[in-house]
Amino acid sequence: MGKLLIVGTVAFDAIETPFGKTDKILGGAATFIGLAASHFNLDAAIISVVGEDFPQDYLDLLKDRDIDISGIEIVPGGKTFFWSGKYGNDLNTRETLATEPNVLIDFKPVVPDNFKDADVVMLGNLHPDIQLSVIEQMEERPKLIVLDTMNFWMNTTLPELMKVIEKVDVITINDEEARQLTNEYSLVRAAAAIHEMGPKYVVIKKGEHGALLFHKERIFFAPALPLEEVFDPTGAGDTFAGGFVGYITESGNISFNNLRNAVIHGSNLASFCVERFGTERMLNLDRKEVGQRLQEFVELTQFDIEIE
Ligand code: AMP
Repeated sequence: MGKLLIVGTVAFDAIETPFGKTDKILGGAATFIGLAASHFNLDAAIISVVGEDFPQDYLDLLKDRDIDISGIEIVPGGKTFFWSGKYGNDLNTRETLATEPNVLIDFKPVVPDNFKDADVVMLGNLHPDIQLSVIEQMEERPKLIVLDTMNFWMNTTLPELMKVIEKVDVITINDEEARQLTNEYSLVRAAAAIHEMGPKYVVIKKGEHGALLFHKERIFFAPALPLEEVFDPTGAGDTFAGGFVGYITESGNISFNNLRNAVIHGSNLASFCVERFGTERMLNLDRKEVGQRLQEFVELTQFDIEIE
């Protein structure tokens, strides 16, 4: 079985959407990535850090899905990373109300020995120095290194982030962040500029408008499934990334054609994530539902035109 190593936050989130508000609930980029990746046949491990205030039940939710959590450090007396966000009426705009790094400040990630030869490394949204340290601890170069990041790190640690971008094969980023990173409005130009920075593949996420995969001159587009129920977009980007790397790890194939399928798997899983608050929907999702919705994707995007 392929091995997938994930680094990212395991966190408390407090979320406000037009449909309601939550207290501190389970969140974090690595949590969403791990839950999505657990839908594939693979060996997955998460590297992260939490405080003593983090419930064992939450860790068990990950363990129960066969995710190796021996790389999640628990800091005695420490407080877990906390993020709080509020969505506007269209759910596409989000305001960060609080980011409390807490135990993340002194975090030194340690890659478990049995994952130093992972096939795929997923660098979830986190301080770029932590992401870089994980790359440097790998015994050999993984088949694929995928990076997810956000405007927070572009605003606060751009030079460090550029060092990581240079070393990865794939970057997943949302449209606004791609424009911020490159100063290009056109996403085609933005993707070309990001190619120049290092990544061979650039995935630009456009929320409810789908995702674009760029590889040199080639472009693939996957729509987001039009949904009746959208409750809370938190974690959709990470869930997309988890489905994307999960499928690649299971298939062991890093061709452009296979990455197209990976984009569909990512979009498919993300479509569930937004249906409930936080991780709720991802924690109650079975294989049959995932398969049925993949079929809906096929039907949504298939057409038959004769071109003369
Ligand atoms: P997404 O909606 O996919 O962008 O991801 C939301 C998740 O990212 C939440 O569960 C947060 O805990 C986590 N998150 C938010 N801000 C940060 C940050 N600056 N660094 C790392 N993780 C973050």
